[in-house]
Amino acid sequence: MSTWNDHERWTAMCSGTACPICCRKEPLDVIATLETSWVTMQEFAPVPGYVCLVSRTHAVELHELAEQVAVAFMRDAQKVSKALSAATGAVKLNYEIHGNSLPHLHMHFLLVTEVIGLRANPSIQRLSWGQGTHRENSREFVTHSCFPWTSP
Ligand SMILES: [Zn+2]
Repeated sequence: MSTWNDHERWTAMCSGTACPICCRKEPLDVIATLETSWVTMQEFAPVPGYVCLVSRTHAVELHELAEQVAVAFMRDAQKVSKALSAATGAVKLNYEIHGNSLPHLHMHFLLVTEVIGLRANPSIQRLSWGQGTHRENSREFVTHSCFPWTSP
């Protein structure tokens, strides 16, 4: 059964009272905190280079953010996009906002294909989970190549 088919649970998650992110005060796997969002990177992500930008404000839909917050969220998204592109040498990034199972605004960043140069660009290897430690990988991602405006 999909989460949204359980009306009571879905309503509580959408309101924030049962939102896993709000209940924890932050998402899992945070590697950086930006103006309006957290940057997360899972140790065992489904695909190499996967990053998620999570709003620090509970909202289900993008239009629920105040205009200035939405603009700042997009500014954060641009920073992640630029950083991820530089760190991986990806030929293209995909951006996805779903929230079907977790109705707290978040944006997925996905590298397009292995044609992006997984073998050609050594930096992506460092972002490939299972090599080195996640802590080392995320620290390097944050401090050296991606988010010089913040510290881990
Ligand atoms: Zn929430």
